[in-house]
Amino acid sequence: MMNKKIAVIKGDGIGPEIVTEAMKVLDKVAEKYGHKFDYTQLLMGGCSIDVNGVPLTDETIAECKASDAVLMGSIGGNTTTSPWYKLPADLRPEAGLLKIRKELGLFANLRPCLLYPQLSGACPLKEEISAKGFDMLIMRELTGGLYFGARKTEEVDGVMTAVDTLSYNEKEIRRIAVKAFEVAMKRRKKVTSVDKANVLDSSRLWRKIVTEVAADYPEVELEHMLVDNSAMQLVRDPAQFDVMVTENMFGDILSDEASMITGSIGMLPSASMNETKFGLYEPSGGSAPDIAGQDKANPIATILSAAMMLRYSFDMTEEADAVEAAVTKVLEEGYRTGDIMSEGCKPVSCSQMGTLIAERV
Ligand code: NAD
Repeated sequence: MMNKKIAVIKGDGIGPEIVTEAMKVLDKVAEKYGHKFDYTQLLMGGCSIDVNGVPLTDETIAECKASDAVLMGSIGGNTTTSPWYKLPADLRPEAGLLKIRKELGLFANLRPCLLYPQLSGACPLKEEISAKGFDMLIMRELTGGLYFGARKTEEVDGVMTAVDTLSYNEKEIRRIAVKAFEVAMKRRKKVTSVDKANVLDSSRLWRKIVTEVAADYPEVELEHMLVDNSAMQLVRDPAQFDVMVTENMFGDILSDEASMITGSIGMLPSASMNETKFGLYEPSGGSAPDIAGQDKANPIATILSAAMMLRYSFDMTEEADAVEAAVTKVLEEGYRTGDIMSEGCKPVSCSQMGTLIAERV
C-alpha cells in the first residue's frame, strides 16, 4: 500500500478530456492494488492566463515541487486565432512549459516508441520491417548543449556571421547516462549512446563519460553509434534498439523521427525527469484545438504516460504492466478512437476508451 501525491495539470484544449481518462485508470489501479493517490489540480497555460494573467504561477510550481510526480495534459490553443498568442512571448501558454521544466530541473526526456501490431498499418515503413515490431525509448538531454549555449550574430570583417555553442560538462553527461542505465535496467538492458565522436569534442567527452558510467551496470549492454548512422538505423531496423540516449539537438531530431515511424501521435507518452525519481508525465502531442471539447481525442498517450509515472516515479512495476496490458487488450478487441480508426474496428469516444482500459486493468 503506497500513498502518493500527484500534481495534475489538465491544461487547455483536449488536455482536460485526456487527463480525466488517465485519472480514471489511476483510480482503478489504486482500487485494485490498494494504493492511495491524492490529486492536486493546478492551472497552467492558457487557462492560467485567463485566471491569473500569467501561464504559470509560483503557487503551481511550489505545489508541483511538493508532489511525488506531475501528470499533465497539454497546453496552448489555436496559435492563429486564440487571444493568448497576441500576448508578449513570455506571457504565452508555452512559456509556462519551458519555465516549469527549468524550475523542476527536468534534464532527461524519455519518449518510448512502440509499434503495436494492431496499429502496424499506420507505420510508414516497409511491411517486412514493421512486421517485426519495435519497442524503444529515446532519452534526450533537455537542458544543455546547442540549445542552451552562448550564441551571437555579428559582422566579422564585413560578413554577417552567426555562432552557436555546443557545450557539455562531465556532470551533465554523467547524470543523464546514469538515468539511461537505470531505465535500461527496467527494460531489455541495452543502451545505445548516440554521438558524433568522429568530429565533435563534446561527443568525445560524452562517449568517455557514458563508458565510465557503464562500468557500474555490468548487466546492461552498451553500444556507441554515430548520429548519422542512428538516423538511418531507425528506419532500417528499429527493432535493434532498447534505450537510445543522446544530447539535446540529436535527441530533438531522432525522437521526432522515431515517433513518426509509429504513425500515431495519440499513442505516444513521454516523461521528463530530474536526478531523483520525480518526473513530469505528459502525452507527446499538443492540445489539438481542432477536436477539443468533442470527446473525440485519443486518451491512450496520456494513460501510457500515467503508466510511466507508476513505473519510473513510484516503482510500481506490476501496476504499470497492468495498465500497458489493458491498452493492448483494448486494441486487440478492436476499439479505436477516430485518429487510429481502421476498417472493421469499433469506434469509441475518448471517455469510452478510458472506461474500457480502466475496466481491463
Ligand atoms: P497537436 O499535437 O495539438 O495537433 C496535431 C494534430 O494531431 C491535430 O490534427 C490533432 O487533432 C491531432 N492530435 C493530437 N493529439 C491527439 C490525440 N490525443 N487524439 C487525437 N488526435 C490528436 O499540434 P498543433 O496543432 O501543432 O498544436 C496545437 C497547440 O498545442 C498549440 O498551441 C501548440 O503550441 C500546443 N502544443 C503543446 C504541447 C504541450 O503541451 N507539450 C506540445 C505540442 C504542441
